[in-house]
Parts: sequence; structure tokens; C-alpha cells
Amino acid sequence: MEITEINRRNIFERASKEEVYRKLIEIFGSTNVTNKEVDLYPYSYDMTENEPHMPDFAVIPEKVEQLVQLVKYCNQNIIPIVPYATGNNVGGLTIPDYGGIIVDFGKKMNKILYVNENMMYAVLEPGVTFGQLKKHLDEYYPQLRYSYPNAPPYAGVVGNALLSGMTSLAAKIGSMAESINGLEVITADGEVARIGSCFYGTDSDNFDSWWSRYPMPDLLGIFVNFQGMTGLITKCSVQLWPKEPIEKPQLVLFFGLTDIAPFLREVGRADIINDIAAFSVEVAKMEIGIPEPRKYPGEPPYTGVMPISAKTEKQMEAKIEILENLITDLNKKGTNILLIDYNEFSKLFNLKARNIYDLPSQILSLHEYSGLTWFGAYAPSNAFEELIKRTEELYHKYGVPSFNYLKIMKGGHYGIFRPIIRFKKFTDQERIVKLLEEIADVCIDLGCIPYKTPSWITEKMRKRINPGWLKLFEKIKDCMDPNNIFNPGRWNT
Ligand SMILES: Cc1cc2nc3c(=O)[nH]c(=O)nc-3n(C[C@H](O)[C@H](O)[C@H](O)COP(=O)(O)OP(=O)(O)OC[C@H]3O[C@@H](n4cnc5c(N)ncnc54)[C@H](O)[C@@H]3O)c2cc1C
Repeated sequence: MEITEINRRNIFERASKEEVYRKLIEIFGSTNVTNKEVDLYPYSYDMTENEPHMPDFAVIPEKVEQLVQLVKYCNQNIIPIVPYATGNNVGGLTIPDYGGIIVDFGKKMNKILYVNENMMYAVLEPGVTFGQLKKHLDEYYPQLRYSYPNAPPYAGVVGNALLSGMTSLAAKIGSMAESINGLEVITADGEVARIGSCFYGTDSDNFDSWWSRYPMPDLLGIFVNFQGMTGLITKCSVQLWPKEPIEKPQLVLFFGLTDIAPFLREVGRADIINDIAAFSVEVAKMEIGIPEPRKYPGEPPYTGVMPISAKTEKQMEAKIEILENLITDLNKKGTNILLIDYNEFSKLFNLKARNIYDLPSQILSLHEYSGLTWFGAYAPSNAFEELIKRTEELYHKYGVPSFNYLKIMKGGHYGIFRPIIRFKKFTDQERIVKLLEEIADVCIDLGCIPYKTPSWITEKMRKRINPGWLKLFEKIKDCMDPNNIFNPGRWNT
């Protein structure tokens, strides 16, 4: 079968919709299956510009065995399965482009199955949220921490790790996908496989061996960033880190438009910060409750909040000293950068100013309108200057406030560049999509690689990607999912 054939096919050719409904009830029980429009509607769209599409059914699984039956049945009858954790990916990735069955892991497969305090990892079901994990660690393992994104507390941990999320320890550890120790997966033929050091043994309830991803052939990559296109993940082991007792977050202001770029490169390699969430000043204003923020002359175009932690006061002092020296050196070379103690600064405002730092939290300004979208990209850090200048021009052209979000990752090895746009879906979408498209073209031109990528952007990327990669990618997809049942439509499959 052609990889795009599902596009043209009636998905209930082999089994009628009524037959499928009966089978789903047999597998999951009538209270865990729905075909009612009112229940299905919330799964048909997300915050983004991506076109909505209704699923035919949604099911709420509780056990791996149910999912094995589902996958075998859907593979036989060529019915799409769309895995769904909490639908917070901001990329249209759980919109069922070709209908089929939403598998909602968030409702009942949401248990923290195990925490290994000694070797610092947690084994999770796919529906576990950031808020849940944070509460659990604070209550039972206060000496351990996880690395959180600026996503709401009700967004999923496993989905974030599988999609290479970038989070509050990113300057140290890099992409969250690198922190996955192991997975349990169901492949298209209904086989259950455990990947990572948990590949030893047959007892799926023994979690002692989920401590490493390497050194065997890295089959985990077949599931990372594949957006649910290669199988269903039923368990995931994520790394945890020791919580350091001293914390002294810093706020940094950048008065020159591109001053932030050399700073990110230098601070990344200095190995002193846990992370930096740096953004256009308009965003900082939104954060403290200004609804339609503008930048006034003389204000710094960019600001950043940096979590810094240490084991002792002396170590903290040394880190702050390195940071101050680094800024002095950069300012001697022509930048205009100012460092401020964030704890002191946030006292000037209300608790909202802490939202960007005390994670996980709901950043209310991101949810102010019906629409939220972004061109979230991993970026070559030497292109930051050009990315900032070119996107600034585009924001001006469209009369939209600048809203760029930047990070430096993994000791300075790469960066994040994420233009974000809030919009009114029913009045403003067309204009915003044009802006987003121009932003995407500029960023891809400058070498950015979008993550959590919607299919209209992967279509653009396909024109740039080398043919060898595309052939290999399609071979793997075809081998893992010959009937294209897993989340069809993603990456234009
Ligand atoms: C306001 C806001 C701010 C955010 N800020 C950040 C940020 O700063 N950094 C960051 O990294 N992220 C950020 N995010 C994104 C968010 O953290 C992650 O994308 C999210 O945690 C994953 O979403 P989810 O768990 O809802 O997964 P979903 O959206 O439900 O699913 C994500 C993808 O994984 C697949 N999938 C889900 N479950 C399974 C499974 N069991 N098996 C196989 N495939 C599966 C889905 O099909 C889909 O393709 C933000 C999101 C919001 C809404």
C-alpha cells in the first residue's frame, strides 16, 4: 500500500462502524467507549491553526492487554489509532486527520508506577501530568526534582519527553528525550516490547531495571519525535535529578536587540545556570498582567529568567561571580546587559511574576485568546542574531507584538528559537497563518528544525530534507506500521 493511501480510503471498508463500536465495547467496556459527537468534539481541535477533524470514537484504556487487542483489531481492519495524552502539544498532533479512534491515556493510564530514589528515575504511564509528578516528588521524594517546561501543570510528562521538550534544566541536560531511560511499546502486530536496560527479563511489573537507555542498539529512537506514528507507548522511565538546596534565580535585561545572542552562547558553555527562559519584553509585560503590551523606546527588547541552584552558599557565590564576569566581558565588547536578583525583582510585582520560574505553572497570558501557535524550533545558536532581526521585521510588518522565546541547551551545544503567536481564531487566523508561514520560511532558511511539527510545516521541510533521509524515514514508518494505522497524517504520511 502507498504510504498516503489511507487519505483516499473509506476507513470502515473492512469492518462497519457498528461492528467497530461493538468490538470497542467488548474490549474496553461500554463506559470507556464513546461515539457521541458531544464527547468527540474536544478531540477534534487544539489551540493552533491546524484544521479540525472529528474522530469516530474515543476509548479510555486501563490496561496494556486491552490495547494489544485494539491494535491487532485496527491493524487487521486498517482503522486509524490516534494516541492522546492531554492534547497539549500545540502542533495539531492529536487531531485525527483521517478520523478513527482516539486512545485517551490521560483519564485512567495515568499512574506513577515506581520511583527509584537511589538511581533517580520514575516509571510512568503515559497520562501522568507535570503537576501530578511534582506533587508526588515533593511529598515522597523531596530530595529529587524533575525538569519542567513552561507548559501548564495538566500537560503530560511522557508526551513532552517523547517530543524532545525543552525544560527548566535544559541548559544542563538538553532535550527531554535524552532523559528517557526506557519504554514499553505495543507495535502494529500487537507485540509488547520493553526497550532500554529494561530489556532484561520477562516480568513487566519489575521496574528495577529501567535505569539506562544505552549501550544496546538504540531502538528508542524509533519512538522519539515520531508523534505516535510507530506504536503505542504504555510505560516510560524518565530520569530525575537531585534537588539542590540553594536557589538564586537571576533576571537579565538585554538593551541591544541582539545582545541576548552572544550571552546565550557564553552562558551555555559556562556551566553555571540550570536553564534560561529568555523572551521579548512584550512577553514579560503580558506576564505581569498587561493585556496588549507594547515596547516603548529605551526599554530592553529581551529579558531572561535563569534558574540557578547550588549545593552550598560558596558554590552559589562562585556561580554568580562567573556570571557577573561574563556579563562585564560582553559589555566591554559592546553589549548592554544588566543582571538583577530575580527574587528581589519579583517582590515589586505580584505572584504572577513568579509564574515563569515556579514550574509547572499556567502562564495565563498564553491562554488569553482562543488561539495559540508557534514555530518552535531547535536552532543553530550562531544564527540567533539573524533570527531575531528577521523575525522582528515580520512582527512589525504584521503589526503583531514581538514574541520570541529563546533558550540555550546542553552546555551551549544548541539553541531554541520559538516565535509564539496568540490570536483570535475566529477573526484573525488567516492573517496569523500568513505571518507564521513567513516566520517558518525565514527560520528554516536559517537552519532551524521545528519540533512538535504540524504537517503543513513538515510538508515545507520535505522540500529541503535530503532524499536519503526521507527514504529511510518512510522505510522505517512502513516497516513499523505497514497499514499506516498509527496517527496517520503526521509528517504527511
Ligand atoms: C501553554 C503551553 C506552553 C508550553 N510550553 C512548553 C515549553 O516551554 N517547553 C516544552 O517542551 N513544551 C511546552 N509545551 C508543550 C507541552 O509541554 C508538551 O507538548 C506536552 O507536555 C505534551 O503534551 P501532551 O502530554 O498533552 O501530549 P499530547 O498532545 O496528547 O500528545 C503529543 C504527541 O504524542 C503522541 N502520544 C501521546 N501519547 C502517546 C502514547 N501513549 N504512545 C504514543 N504516542 C503518544 C500523540 O499522538 C502526539 O503526537 C507547552 C504547551 C502549552 C499548552
